[in-house]
Amino acid sequence: MTYTAAADRYDRMIYRRCGNSGLKLPAVSFGLWHNFGDDTPHDIKRDMCRTAFDHGITHFDLANNYGPPAGSAEEAFGEILRTDFKAYRDELIISSKAGYDMWAGPYGEWGSRKYMIASCDQSLKRLGVDYVDIFYSHRFDPDTPLEESMGALDHIVRSGRAQYVGISSYNSERTREAVAILKDLGTPCLIHQPSYNMLNRWIERDGLKDTLNDLGVGSIAFTPLAQGLLSNKYLSGIPDGSRATKDSSLDAGVITDEMVTALRGLNAVAQTRGQTLAQMAISWVLRDRGPNGVGITTALIGASNPAQIVDCAGAAQNLDFTPSELTEIDKFAND
Ligand code: NDP
Repeated sequence: MTYTAAADRYDRMIYRRCGNSGLKLPAVSFGLWHNFGDDTPHDIKRDMCRTAFDHGITHFDLANNYGPPAGSAEEAFGEILRTDFKAYRDELIISSKAGYDMWAGPYGEWGSRKYMIASCDQSLKRLGVDYVDIFYSHRFDPDTPLEESMGALDHIVRSGRAQYVGISSYNSERTREAVAILKDLGTPCLIHQPSYNMLNRWIERDGLKDTLNDLGVGSIAFTPLAQGLLSNKYLSGIPDGSRATKDSSLDAGVITDEMVTALRGLNAVAQTRGQTLAQMAISWVLRDRGPNGVGITTALIGASNPAQIVDCAGAAQNLDFTPSELTEIDKFAND
């Protein structure tokens, strides 16, 4: 059936300025790392994308290697763009990345100019678009001069392949260097994509969160639900079909009795806030805009069905925490 986006799609979501840029991103963004490969029926992928957009989620995050097999998530989203989102391209922020292993030989991964530009071209082809809105260096390459990787990002923007650029999982020190190089090149770094959630606070320990605030660079926190741990999913053990049963990226071994007790404690805090645990986990990531008002711009969730997306989008209704709620959360969750 032909898709028409919900008329009220912008009423419930909130949009936050990405660092000091002019671009606003939804408080909740949707990532296609899992459940967009050839192992998931196309109907489910399409329904999830429709639901996300109907709830004001304008930002869809991809990478060259998302699947399985690598590349198939971009192909699936390209198909959805053609069948469903064609009329809405200018309402969407589509991102992709290059950095991880994509094709055989010495030019199929990391951060060389050769790899990054070729990979971007392949992504555009799979997606069936002329440009992506954001293109990332997916990981820092210790064997390539940072000037070369950032120069490739600059070229990708100047040649019209992307509107903005970002970096992912770079530590604080590398981020300062990359941002300075990009600034000199005249292509500012729009955004950083780090992992961040109540159980994984490395960006606080490393100083990256403060660095981004200092530099005025926005950020998009990936795995805000710790791959589903921070939801009601594992409160009574490990359900069939959950990521912990089918994917090595979430090790079932971390779901110990101690972890389940902690998750129940967090769930009780969420209930007092009138939220589900998944909603509270997202709100927590977005809670603090820092001294310069930059903070984390958006929480980048994944999902295996449309109902999860509706639940997560609801987090935007309550992003504030009292000091005692934060103290209570820290009793149950730390890294
Ligand atoms: P999350 O932490 O949001 O985990 C998503 C999983 O949580 C879902 O697959 C689902 O698990 C479960 N879930 C989601 N919503 C709910 C809900 N409301 N109630 C109960 N369970 C829920 O993020 P992901 O790990 O999926 O990562 C999100 C995105 O981040 C990726 O798609 C990608 O775009 C990006 N990313 C970037 C990386 C990088 O290096 N830059 C690395 C990793 C991710 P289940 O499947 O069990 O139902």
